[in-house]
Amino acid sequence: MCGIIGYSGHENAADKLIHALTSLEYRGYDSAGVTLFAENGTVTLKKQGRLKNLQQLLADNPIASVCGIGHTRWATHGKPSDDNAHPHVSGKVSLVHNGIIENYADIRRDLERDGAVFLSDTDTESAVKLLDDAYRQTGEPLSAIRQTCEQLTGSYAFAIVFADINGKVFGVRRGSPLIAAYGQDGNFVASDITAVLWDTRRYISLDENEIAAVTNDGIVVTDFDGKAVAKETKTAEWDSESAEKGGFPHFMLKEIHEEAESVGRTVAAHIKDGLPDFQSCGLSRQFLSKLKSVTIAACGTAMHAGLVGKTVTERLAGIPVRVEVASEFRYGSVFLEEGDLFVAVSQSGETADTLAALDIAKQHGARTLGIVNAAGSALSREADGVFLTMAGPEISVASTKAYGVQLAALYLLAIATAEAKGKLSSEDARLFTQTLLTEIPSKISEVVSRESEIRTLASDFMNAKSVFFIGRGLDCALSYEGSLKLKEISYIHSESYAAGEMKHGTISLIEENTPVVAVATQPELFTKTISNIREVKARGANVLLICPANFPNADIADTVFNIPATSELFTPFTAVTALQLFAYHMAELRGRDIDKPRNLAKSVTVE
Ligand code: GLU
Repeated sequence: MCGIIGYSGHENAADKLIHALTSLEYRGYDSAGVTLFAENGTVTLKKQGRLKNLQQLLADNPIASVCGIGHTRWATHGKPSDDNAHPHVSGKVSLVHNGIIENYADIRRDLERDGAVFLSDTDTESAVKLLDDAYRQTGEPLSAIRQTCEQLTGSYAFAIVFADINGKVFGVRRGSPLIAAYGQDGNFVASDITAVLWDTRRYISLDENEIAAVTNDGIVVTDFDGKAVAKETKTAEWDSESAEKGGFPHFMLKEIHEEAESVGRTVAAHIKDGLPDFQSCGLSRQFLSKLKSVTIAACGTAMHAGLVGKTVTERLAGIPVRVEVASEFRYGSVFLEEGDLFVAVSQSGETADTLAALDIAKQHGARTLGIVNAAGSALSREADGVFLTMAGPEISVASTKAYGVQLAALYLLAIATAEAKGKLSSEDARLFTQTLLTEIPSKISEVVSRESEIRTLASDFMNAKSVFFIGRGLDCALSYEGSLKLKEISYIHSESYAAGEMKHGTISLIEENTPVVAVATQPELFTKTISNIREVKARGANVLLICPANFPNADIADTVFNIPATSELFTPFTAVTALQLFAYHMAELRGRDIDKPRNLAKSVTVE
């Protein structure tokens, strides 16, 4: 949700900011803008629409500058427009914002009563006006920033410049992500490290209530008491190539192609003596052996990974697992107590709802584990223990390889718990772990290598108005993910249902030629799913069946995609790859903007 960047250095700031915004565009793309120090103060240029509109504006109005801030927006308050685009300016202050100012309306009302004139509908403008007032009063940037932040509620990260402090960018973090990075010819503040990987891998993570002052020769961090904070400089493990398309037409396709390797890498990093290692994530074998239940909270795709994790853990370890939509968990009843395990799953580790759920779980005394892909993110810092998944940067808004590694993490946790509880022999636990390490990545690759087959299947369905996904057990959890993937990037309406549930209402929507994707990978449920397929077939559905080759009645479907043979417990890994490729090709055949689907953004840092 919104990418923010600031640069102070020796090179052309407009080029640096645009380069960074290109890398940040996945966080939002409805408008973009920059403020640059020019000869006589600052100049702000902003434009509705994709980054290329801002680039054109800059090409028409070239500004020689070595310092500035930039923004790519995902609107929360006020529609996408030139006026609502960031930076927002008041007096000498220019500011870009990621997050939400919850008390913006009260602030605005008070300021308007005193005669202030607002130019936008955003929450952000209330902050910039307050900061302008504070700066006029104090004449000192750091205390003005602190004083302003004390009056704001909500979550935010700002990058700020003051027109009379040339060459300095301030960054402040309160609830939304922010890093500062040491570049080759200048320094940055940015929403995340992927923004500047093309220039540097050396960065510091800012903690809550810290302010970074960035100049061309250094970064100084202070806290809200005005004290200097010594920060550890980290080196990002991700390289610039991993944040680029590398010859693929879309990040999404590249990331599906990286799924197998990501799963193998993630599993390899969490094995000790052939068994899953959770000791390093703060969960001892003894703790797991006593576990009575697990609660998983997440959003979107990560929540769907949680649903698979639930089935696998319940099956292997024999304990109940609750999967909570994080945004609902926040305001529902909480049934957690000391000794319970709470698992928060998030690719970015910055998902606001998931972080809030984590906070609640901690308040109730639960032991918390974060399954997270971005090292140094809020989740990785706030959870008691961290399982770092190894997917590398995921840029496409539609999550694919991150789902694969989240599954791997949850499978390892299920195996470790089952083994610790004596429900699974160490021999079987080792065998399952080995399967995840070698066999599963190679089977995922096998599915990816049959991409053209999936494209042909997708071409049959490409004009569909609505697509249904059905499955039972693990296949039901997978259907949710297949359906979400399709709707988010192809904009085709889609629903997913437990196959046995269709007849309780939804089957009334099936008519001649309605596409139904049936996922059937669990032998003990084959006969039940066959009946459900017959039910939709009898109403005219056009059924694509995703199943292993040993499915007994594949001829009842109109078309079939056979996933490679694996033990039935592991079929989600290969079936989901097929579903991801199916969604990708449906969207591609319909000419959609796959990596940046409308209305969406990655890394949902607002509630
Ligand atoms: N609330 C700000 C706006 O709507 C920033 C949005 C965000 O960070 O997603 O402009």
